Amino acid sequence: PLLANQIAAGEVVERPSSVVKELLENSIDAGAKRIQIDVDRGGARLIRVTDDGNGIERSQLELALERHATSKIEETKDLKAIYTLGFRGEALASISSVAKLTLSSKSTASDEGDSGWSAIAQGQDTAVDIQPRSMPNGTIVEVRDLFFNTPARQKFLRAERTEYVHIEETIKRVALASPEVAFTLKHNGKVTKRIPAAHSKEQQQQRVGTIVSNNFLSGSIFLDSDIEDLRLWGWISSPERHQNSNLSQYVFVNGRAVRDRTLNHAIRQAYEDLLPTGRVPAYVLYLELDPELVDVNVHPTKHEVRFSDARRVHDFITKTVSEHLQSQEE
Ligand code: ADP
Ligand code: MG
Repeated sequence: PLLANQIAAGEVVERPSSVVKELLENSIDAGAKRIQIDVDRGGARLIRVTDDGNGIERSQLELALERHATSKIEETKDLKAIYTLGFRGEALASISSVAKLTLSSKSTASDEGDSGWSAIAQGQDTAVDIQPRSMPNGTIVEVRDLFFNTPARQKFLRAERTEYVHIEETIKRVALASPEVAFTLKHNGKVTKRIPAAHSKEQQQQRVGTIVSNNFLSGSIFLDSDIEDLRLWGWISSPERHQNSNLSQYVFVNGRAVRDRTLNHAIRQAYEDLLPTGRVPAYVLYLELDPELVDVNVHPTKHEVRFSDARRVHDFITKTVSEHLQSQEE
């Protein structure tokens, strides 16, 4: 299983930011409202994610570290409509096969006065040691010395600054996807980012300014449209605010950050003829549709999605974005 997990880790854990992504998704699936991320040396030395979610009971700790053990899906038919960010049960097993992982948790279901529990797994087949740990309700995952036992992959780690920037980008995506969750990021012991939770439309708008940039927000058009069971809402840059890199392009499908060619193409098409060549729009867009109409189980990183009716989704997006760009011109 160690080898199998390391192979799976090759797909899931490319660099420190991939670990951050998986841990944040777990925290959000656990209903966390506050998440703290502590990172040392660009995440190569330490990634610690602390959340206030439901936690894991002691009896489930070891299982959580096993490959293909997920508490989120019970039957094959559940795969047809996935409501959680995780479901493959691969992340913790993969990470612990290439790093020193400590999973500590105190379940909200545990009796008052009970302590939390810690399970340690480091490149081994299963968690060996379970110890009590005094902690508030929630979960703390600590990942130390990423790739310590796979030197070939360790060599691919970039400069601390580069890895840190990737982590920041990951947090931006996750934060945009979950407005009701507050995030704090520390790098080498210093707070580098604070993203408060948003509970109203205004706060959410403000938060987009904080996360993406106020420059983007001030030059953006808000849209919110639905046709039948499809809804698209969010912020798109007005054509005169174009940019030359595709950095500020965020698309979320049912709360999941995706990089999808169909969606990006559909948006770009709406801007066609409105932008000088080589220039691209910026956007933060949320697509909502029946989970049964979208397959997120295309790739282990779950960045890609497949729509059962891609044409209809594509055309809906192009049409909606076009209409809003035009109404602004008038
Ligand atoms: P998946 O998210 O696909 O289920 P993971 O390997 O990421 O698989 O996590 C395995 C299991 O560990 C989850 O199904 C969940 O039960 C538990 N788990 C992991 N992280 C947390 C967390 N932060 N809070 C509560 N439970 C967690
Ligand atoms: Mg997960």
